[in-house]
Amino acid sequence: MNNIMIKVENVTYEYKSYIEEEIQAAVKNLSLEVKKGEFLVILGHNGSGKSTLSKMMNGLLLPTSGDIYVMDMNTKDEEKIWDIRQKAGIVFQNPDNQIVATIVEEDVAFGPENQGIDPAEIRKRVDDSLAIVEMTEYKKHAPHLLSGGQKQRVAIAGILAMNPDCIIFDEPTSMLDPTGRIEVMNTIRKLNQEEGKSIVLITHYMDEAVQGDRVVVMSQGEIQMEGTPKEIFSQVDKIKELGLDVPQVTELAHELRKEGIDIPGDILSVEELLKLL
Ligand code: ADP
Ligand code: MG
Repeated sequence: MNNIMIKVENVTYEYKSYIEEEIQAAVKNLSLEVKKGEFLVILGHNGSGKSTLSKMMNGLLLPTSGDIYVMDMNTKDEEKIWDIRQKAGIVFQNPDNQIVATIVEEDVAFGPENQGIDPAEIRKRVDDSLAIVEMTEYKKHAPHLLSGGQKQRVAIAGILAMNPDCIIFDEPTSMLDPTGRIEVMNTIRKLNQEEGKSIVLITHYMDEAVQGDRVVVMSQGEIQMEGTPKEIFSQVDKIKELGLDVPQVTELAHELRKEGIDIPGDILSVEELLKLL
């Protein structure tokens, strides 16, 4: 058994433009592997190709060249496309665009219903999924009356009900208030640590990025950096060159070092910094 969830092999993606003559590739000859059980973070400034890459990871877009395999299934294989979408679910930025029903539990049931799953099994999956995202008490509620964080958790439950092995999140907290952001990040961590799901999290929040096992930084359709959060965020100047911020506490540690205070360059949490000072 191999331990690769998603394999991206020399992938280029070009959007067809009828206006501009010059085609600019959104993703350029990119290779990347997502391991089973891994929590991978993708960072990058606006327009660096993150969403294009994520949509290719579950077959919503097909590479212009190169190949993507989801658990050994090529996304170009038309016969496998529904299996691929079931194995690798995707959660988008705006929860309002992902909710399709007027009752929470019906919304969560929508995916498995379309898969033709047995009703008793659907019932179980809906209940289990709502329990995991901690929305059981809202199962009879109308989704549009929920908070942003709650709606996004319902959207996550809808993906979970399909029984995926991997969930791709494309800036899932960027439209949420601080409470909603924390709720959704707690849910994502739980999916990885307790449910064993592979996670691909695209974010522009550094405090979210530090929670991953591994971080890749994209710029202009290419991977510019790859490593653990500590390896990535200790390179403060390079991160800034790529149009990103570092976590506030890392920035502070970096400034202290420049002032000659002897502390390591890979501080990621307030607790770590306090211990050292
Ligand atoms: P990110 O998610 O990192 O902001 P995207 O993948 O959305 O980046 O975009 C990468 C590049 O592709 C950008 O230059 C963007 O303008 C272009 N692009 C994205 N979507 C489309 C589209 N539907 N048609 C044409 N160009 C697009
Ligand atoms: Mg995007």
